[in-house]
Amino acid sequence: MLTRFAPSPTGFLHRGHAFSALTAFRAAQSAGGRFLLRIEDIDATRCRPEYEAAILEDLAWLGLEWETLVRRQSDHLADYHADIEALRERGLVYRCFKTRKEIDIGRAPHEPAIPYVGAPLPADEETQRLARGEAFAWRLSLAAASAALGGFEDLTFVEQGAGPDGETGVIQALPETAGDIVLARKDVGVAYHLAVVHDDALQSVTHVIRGHDLFEAAHIQRLLQALLGLPTPTYLHHGLLVGPDGKRYAKRDKAQTLRELRAAGVTADDLRAELGF
Ligand code: GLU
Repeated sequence: MLTRFAPSPTGFLHRGHAFSALTAFRAAQSAGGRFLLRIEDIDATRCRPEYEAAILEDLAWLGLEWETLVRRQSDHLADYHADIEALRERGLVYRCFKTRKEIDIGRAPHEPAIPYVGAPLPADEETQRLARGEAFAWRLSLAAASAALGGFEDLTFVEQGAGPDGETGVIQALPETAGDIVLARKDVGVAYHLAVVHDDALQSVTHVIRGHDLFEAAHIQRLLQALLGLPTPTYLHHGLLVGPDGKRYAKRDKAQTLRELRAAGVTADDLRAELGF
């Protein structure tokens, strides 16, 4: 078993991260397997070096040990771009000039983003827009992907944990629910999904252990694995820790960070015990 914890350095780690990291670490330990730490910092608009340094410090404090040579995604952008280029050569991606705002017209603020399904623009219009310097995203075409794979029926993955609605066992991937996903855009050069499948395969990850907020991501990632000829790991999505208010811990809610807990005198032993480890 080879598993990983793959945080994005967009803030300080909180209890939810500690739970996820410990779940993966303990799974590797009890199987006599390997545990990696990967820094997912492709979104340069949100990631900060100080958060990355804090992640290493906080996880070490928590008692985790990972193999050295931590992969940092921002060091490998050219490799992810090569994947997108390979998909482009096969006609699987297209340029989309629509903004999120244009796509979400009519969406109420509380509703999730509307999945977008589009098509390449006529060549002359695309040339004109490019000449005007208009920003675009590379989107994966579901229609082209389905044609390339002969449909999505064969896309399954094994879930050893559970999705948010208890989904477990052999799961039929439904990548179409996400629409034509963005694989790259101007501000964020490469999408999370692509970097994750690239790295999980490159690092020979056998088990993806993470929170079930990423269960839907597995459906999309399964499609990318098929298109890029990469192996599919086993998935183990775990439930999300909820705070005293019954809401899940999240960076945006300023959930008490591991550093704050530490400063308040909480020991790593206390926290591990609180989290059930
Ligand atoms: N980097 C992602 C996050 O911070 C996790 C990716 C994964 O575990 O697949 O939410």
